[in-house]
Formats: sequence, structure tokens, C-alpha cells
Amino acid sequence: MKRLFILPLLFSFGFLSAQPERWQQHADYEMNIDMDVSKDRYHGTQRITYTNNSPDTLNQVFYHLYFNAFQPGSMMDVRSRTITDADARVSDRISRLKPEEQGWIKVNSLKHNGKAVQYEMSETILEVTLTEPVLPGGQAVFEMDWNAQVPLQIRRSGRDNKEGVEYSMAQWYPKMCEYDYQGWHSNPYIAREFYGIWGNFDVKITIDKNYLVAAGGYLQNPQEVGYGYEAAGQPVTRPAGDKLTWHFKAPDAHDFVWAADPDYTHTKIDAEDGTVMHFVWQKGKGYDDQWQKLPSIMNRARTMMNRHFGKYPHREYYFIQGGDGGMEYPLATLITGNRGLNSLVGVAVHEQLHSWYQMVLGTNESLYAWMDEGFTTYAETVVENELAGEGLLPGKKAEENPHADNYSAYVQLATSGQEEPLTTHADHFNTNYAYSLAAYIKGAVFLNQMEYIVGKAAFEKGLLRYFDTWKFKHPNANDVTRVFEKQSGLELDWYKEDWVNTINTIDYAVDTVVSEDRNTTRVVIGRKGRMAMPLDVVVTYKNGEKELFYAPLESMRGLKPAENNTKRSVLPDHRWVDPTYTFTIPERLKNIVRIEIDPSHRIADLEWENNVWEGKE
Ligand SMILES: [Zn+2]
Repeated sequence: MKRLFILPLLFSFGFLSAQPERWQQHADYEMNIDMDVSKDRYHGTQRITYTNNSPDTLNQVFYHLYFNAFQPGSMMDVRSRTITDADARVSDRISRLKPEEQGWIKVNSLKHNGKAVQYEMSETILEVTLTEPVLPGGQAVFEMDWNAQVPLQIRRSGRDNKEGVEYSMAQWYPKMCEYDYQGWHSNPYIAREFYGIWGNFDVKITIDKNYLVAAGGYLQNPQEVGYGYEAAGQPVTRPAGDKLTWHFKAPDAHDFVWAADPDYTHTKIDAEDGTVMHFVWQKGKGYDDQWQKLPSIMNRARTMMNRHFGKYPHREYYFIQGGDGGMEYPLATLITGNRGLNSLVGVAVHEQLHSWYQMVLGTNESLYAWMDEGFTTYAETVVENELAGEGLLPGKKAEENPHADNYSAYVQLATSGQEEPLTTHADHFNTNYAYSLAAYIKGAVFLNQMEYIVGKAAFEKGLLRYFDTWKFKHPNANDVTRVFEKQSGLELDWYKEDWVNTINTIDYAVDTVVSEDRNTTRVVIGRKGRMAMPLDVVVTYKNGEKELFYAPLESMRGLKPAENNTKRSVLPDHRWVDPTYTFTIPERLKNIVRIEIDPSHRIADLEWENNVWEGKE
């Protein structure tokens, strides 16, 4: 009797827990920064309230000290000087930095629950040995005091970028490393990817009062600073003294960025989705026209983003001129400003979309760079195509297949001999080329190809479900695949295993088309690549009608619903081991004019010419 009683209870628990069950750490930051603009140095204090939600007892913690990478001989410097295709922004520039141009963070003191702890600096990582452990479910307060020098801008962060922005303050503070179900992630910084702990930021920046500050956060004291932040018609009351303190708060974030310049101008709009968008750039340098057109286009783009990818969950967002190209942060982006309109819109759309892919869906970028850069590239392609369709991008029209360029770039990678699997740690790719195309392009193709496999309706719902299920968490490759499995009812592990874990490629061909008897035609499809796919084969008849012959992949354990009104015939399953797949068209050969595998071009087929058979007239 007892046993019978327990079993149903266990089962009901399993059904009740609809939310992902993975634990994650939490860190709330309070920081006070005092900037000395005459020396490009600042003093900082920090109080982190850290919650250990893991089932493990922690005897050590780690911090990122990114500025220390900007010193001759650092891992970032050596890596950049030894990789075969160095980023021109870095190349050997770090090795040539003079002492006053280098970056550093020097820790003056660190306390754990009020008591001093031992720490050791290992270049960009601070290793901390705790005297008392942080227990599972326990909380700890870490208080640090440090000094820092802002490096000359080399990559992303630093002073005096090439457009004359004085401070692009990214990766600028001691940031606690993330500990998750895969352990510690204390990666030394070599210029690439980021990962952080979810929490809340409360940051006070004190700086010369002639500097306008912008940051990824909500300004708490607009009536004290002015600069266009103040409520219209209300007086600005600045405290006495040469410096101003800017107080920002950023909730539900895993990083904090800011920028400052005496030549900045600031405008803001109330966007259609109820958020405030800020635009901060240097006026009067020849690109005001583009920056003044940006707000209305970003307002429109945001509406598209919310519809396709989930509602942007924060109240504000900042487009800030700074950095060395475009780089994403929570609630903000740093982008270079001297661009034509379409380039400015392109970078602003891309970086803002990172608010979905990484800033809200907080993947570990080092392990899953393709889930932030790739998904962002996919989303950027969709949004820019819609903007073009509305006539908002001068000289551009909407394209029927906007993803085509991503596919061509993927084929170039897959045939280059340099491709490495998406599972490669971002820091460890052999070339920048292989990393970039894997992360940005093969990741984008992952999604568009997913649409082919599960069908358009399940795919679109799946993207929204992914956002709802995993926002403010740390999804991995399996998690996103599982969302599409649940949405479509199909098994998709085979897709992830081939596309993500290997460099196997896809190539199908129409091998043979012959008359079987008076009324039927036999078609043999050949699998030339190692990776299998479900097959959409579209047949065009002499009278102009089309028919789709659909062979699901046996591994899918199901079939996608019809995606459009084309007549569809479902064929027996196609098995991944089979080198060929044969089916019969119930029509005589002379009435068939064309047979094409995947006319939607959503399969990343390496060789398109052999996908088509055309009848002789
Ligand atoms: Zn990106």
C-alpha cells in the first residue's frame, strides 16, 4: 500500500515543475567611483552581496580584472601577436603601450564579511582564498577598495577612442566570476567573450562636472545633473564643487557599462513600447543628420523586436557613441558614430538585439558564442529586412530570402578547411576567421535551418517561448534545442549533435529521374554530405502546378505541419544511414518540368546546382 502511495506523489512533482530547475548565483553590486580626468585614473569601492544558490560549499571566489590585459606581455597581447589573422584593432598595439597608456586595476584591500581575506593577482583574474566558506544557500558580503588606470583604447574599452570619445568604460571594474553547474568560469581575458552573475547594480560615478555621463542603467538623480536628463520645465540644482555624482541603478543585469565625454550631446524619446531610448553622441562632427534620424528608426525596430523575440524587459536603453565598432552591454550599447545612416542603423539594430541574446538570455558566451552572436545576427537579418520593407533604409528593399548572404558565408567557412565545431571554446579557435564565422554565421544558420525542420509556425512560437523560459537565466545549447522540441513535438537532438558538435556538412542531390511505368516517375535523391536532413522536394508539373513531397527524417519521430498552401504528399521516413532515398511521383515523366530539393534554401546545402533537375522540352 505504502509503495503505491509514494509513486503518484513523485510523478506529480515532476509534472508540477514547469520552470527550468537549474540554480544560479546572485550578486548585488554597490560601487562608488571617483574619477580623476587629469590622470585617467579612478578610485573605486565596491560592496558585493553574494548569494550562493549552488549545492556546493565555496572555499574560493574569483574576480575578472579586465584592464590588466592592456599591458605588454599580457595573454591578450601574446595571443594577438601570435594568431595568424590578428584583429587590426589590437595586433601588436598592446606591446607598444607606454606606462601612462596601459590599463591596470590594483586591489588595495578585500574583506569577506568584514574580515580581510587573502588574494593573489593572476593578470586578469584575482584569486581569492576564503577563510570561512560560503555555504550552500548562504550569503556573503565582499568589500573591495581599488585603484585603476584607464588604458588607451585598444579594444572595446578605454580612453580617447579614434573618434575622440574620452571614456568608453566597459569591463572596467572588478567583476566577480560566475560559478554555475559547470563549475567556475575564471577565464583569463584575451579579448573575446563574457559571462556574468545575475544581480542588481547600484553605481555612483563622481567625475568633473563638465563631463556628460551615459550608462546602462536608470539615472536616479536627473535633477542634480541636468544635461537633458531632467524632467522638462523643472529646475536643475547642482551641488557645489568641481565634480558631479551620477547615480545609476541597473536591475536584473550581469554587467554595467558607462561612458563620459565633455562634448557629448544627449536626446531621449519615449518609444512606442513604453520605454525611454537615449541617444548620446558628439554633436557637430559631421554625422548629426544620421544620429537625428536614428531615434524614430530604432523606435520602429524595437516594435519589431518585441513582436518576434519577446518584450524588452527593461525601462530604458542607451545608444552611446564610443568603443571601437559596436559592443553590447545590459541596457546600453557603445557604437562608433561616424557612419552613414544604413551602417549606423545596422550596428544599432545588431547591438540592441543583444539585449535579447546574452543580456537577457544570459548564455556563457565563451562556450556558446553562436547563441549570442549567431542568434543576434539572425534577428538582425530579420529586423533589417523589415525596416527595408518599410522604406526606412535608403536604397534597400526587402528581399525574399534575406538570409542568403549568411548561407554563402557559411559555405565559404565549411569549404575553407579552417572550420572548427561550435563547441570550441571561443578563446581557443585557431583563427579569428573560424571563430567569427562559426559564432556569427553558423549560429544564425542554426535558427533559420531550425525553421525549415520544425516549420514556420512552431519556429516563431519557439523563439518567444525560448525568451519566456530562459530570460534572466543561463541557457545552453541543449536548452534552446529542448524549447523547439517542446514547441514542435519533434525530436531534435540529432540536429544539435551534428550542427553544433561536429563540422559535418549537408549536400543532397537529385541523382536520378526515370520513367517507372506509363503513369509514374521514380526519383532517387542522393545524400552526398555526412549530415542528414528532412527532405522538402518540390515538383513542378507541365501545367504549372506544384507539389511538395516531404520525407521526414526518421530521427525526428514526427513531421512538421504544412507551411503553406502548396499541395503536400508525405513520404515514408528518410533514414540518416541511407546513402540514397527513392520515391515515386504518380505522374508520367514527360509531364514533369522541374524537381528541386528545398526551394526555400533554408537547408545549408553546400552544393545547390545538384539540388535541381529540369526536364528536357
Ligand atoms: Zn554581436
